Amino acid sequence: MLAFVARFESELTFGQVLIRRSGSAFDLRHIEDRDLSEGKLLRLTRAELRRWSQRTQADAYRPLKSSPTLAPGWTYHCSDIDSLDDALQIIYPGSVVDWYAGLAERPPVTDYRDFTNRQSGMYRITQLLSDSQAASVIEAACDAKFCLKRRLWSVEGLEPDPSEGKSIIPCLEPCAVFLEFARKAVRIEQEAKAPVSLSASELSSIESALNCAIDAESTGAREAEVGDALNRRRLQLLLIKLKTVDKPGLLKE
Ligand code: SF4
Repeated sequence: MLAFVARFESELTFGQVLIRRSGSAFDLRHIEDRDLSEGKLLRLTRAELRRWSQRTQADAYRPLKSSPTLAPGWTYHCSDIDSLDDALQIIYPGSVVDWYAGLAERPPVTDYRDFTNRQSGMYRITQLLSDSQAASVIEAACDAKFCLKRRLWSVEGLEPDPSEGKSIIPCLEPCAVFLEFARKAVRIEQEAKAPVSLSASELSSIESALNCAIDAESTGAREAEVGDALNRRRLQLLLIKLKTVDKPGLLKE
């Protein structure tokens, strides 16, 4: 933790949390609330911070703490480094330790193949995805719309996340939400396929509709419910697949 606080002088953005140093103490708030006065924010107790980190603004459960769905409107005071460590552990469990590990020249990552090869039981089938299928699943599941961790692990043919664009919190190996999604993606691949013939305009309409649904705060499907056809990661995966379809030419109006 000492190495972590030594990395910044006055403030640091960690995921969606803005950490401000104040002597030997620290104040936390949502990054969206950067310019709000303290009086406009709810000062949380430790128990309230825990509850706050578990629910979205729409009061849905947050199965993945690194989802960009931490609700704004609060502040939390940490009297010292230990209290800061505790608060970050509540908001982003394990993230400071991972951050430190991520600084190494060769961070201790577990790539898709190593991770899935050691799965047994119901998750063993995740080994069946080809490299390109796994790459699409990773791109869909770990998109910045769904997770702010910077993915350092990968699969053949797919680069890890770049240093810009998500956050300084690294992801060192596939998480439980990802694994469940990958399992569902295998099941979807194993289903019989319908021969569908669509024009370029029709494909364009489907892509636009998918983008609208993905960008909406909620489709009504819960984040971890990958069995729901409206799950946003599933829609993102479908969108990625559609982008690889050879499109017929558009008719001129
Ligand atoms: S596996 Fe993907 S979704 Fe899960 S924590 Fe890592 S980057 Fe986020």
